Amino acid sequence: MKLLSVIVPCYNEQENIRDFYDEIIKTGNYFKEHDVEIEIIYVDDGSFDETEKEVRELHKTDERVKLVSFSRNFGKEAAIYAGLKKAEGDYVVVMDCDLQDPPALLPEMYKAVAEEGYDSVATRRVDRKGEPLIRSIFARRFYKIINKMSKAEIVDGARDYRFMNRRFVNAVLSMEEYNRFSKGIFGWVGFKNKWIEFENVERKKGETKWSFWKLFLYALDGIVAFSTIPLAIASFVGLLLCLVTVFFIIFIIVRQCILGGDPNQVDGWASTVCIILFVSGVQLLCVGILGQYLSKTYLEVKKRPLYIVKEEI
Ligand code: UDP
Ligand code: MG
Repeated sequence: MKLLSVIVPCYNEQENIRDFYDEIIKTGNYFKEHDVEIEIIYVDDGSFDETEKEVRELHKTDERVKLVSFSRNFGKEAAIYAGLKKAEGDYVVVMDCDLQDPPALLPEMYKAVAEEGYDSVATRRVDRKGEPLIRSIFARRFYKIINKMSKAEIVDGARDYRFMNRRFVNAVLSMEEYNRFSKGIFGWVGFKNKWIEFENVERKKGETKWSFWKLFLYALDGIVAFSTIPLAIASFVGLLLCLVTVFFIIFIIVRQCILGGDPNQVDGWASTVCIILFVSGVQLLCVGILGQYLSKTYLEVKKRPLYIVKEEI
């Protein structure tokens, strides 16, 4: 018998706990036929409604339901990590509680990992139907920017809904960094990955836990976690400023030689402006150099593994 762990981060999802359970149990038959048992790990991310109680009730009637409960709201990323740590399964799948991640895809995902030799199956929405327009626009921009800035591939519309085998999960767990950005981490660890696309499903009950502001901060987190380019920007601007100043100085000298002094001008303004520009340029350049060292330190502090072994013979 193999075990499939279903990890469900929940934050104030009292209306969805039972519906989610029912839907997963429906796919249970398929898995039974394939000799796979299911455990459902609800991670209660510091909800202040009846989420925890609902899970406890389920646990009373079904031992396969498990609960990890946080002392306060630590965010979805922390909830995913806690779930992955707790999961004992040979296969692990991360799903949202609101049924926006269709359980109907599970058999296909299982097949890809168990039979077709993939290590993980990721999902992406092909549309953003039902989402506020502003949010979609910003989301698209974000994916464009982060993919330019980062080496890890971060796919537009990718969800956290992902089916993984044990070695993939272990690789994700080996990344113990504090500021977690799962979409980046999943891409970073590598392995053979399959993408499944589906149309956006609207939330069944309750409402989204992500305000525009929360998403914006999350996007910044993602960029900072997977790119050190912002630190290099200072260098670039500084260098540019220095170059511009040099041209400016040459221009002023040449003008002075050809046209001579201008009686209406205050003496010394040109040299003052040049000095200010040049010195600010040099300062920015130095800040940028500091930034480069800082970025190296930042990467060291994260203690990411140097490599991830796929297989040893
Ligand atoms: N969630 C969580 N902690 C949070 C915010 C959200 O565990 O601080 C969970 C939430 O309960 C849900 C999933 O993350 O199961 C996705 O959240 P939501 O549906 O609100 O996001 P959306 O689908 O709108 O992007
Ligand atoms: Mg949702």
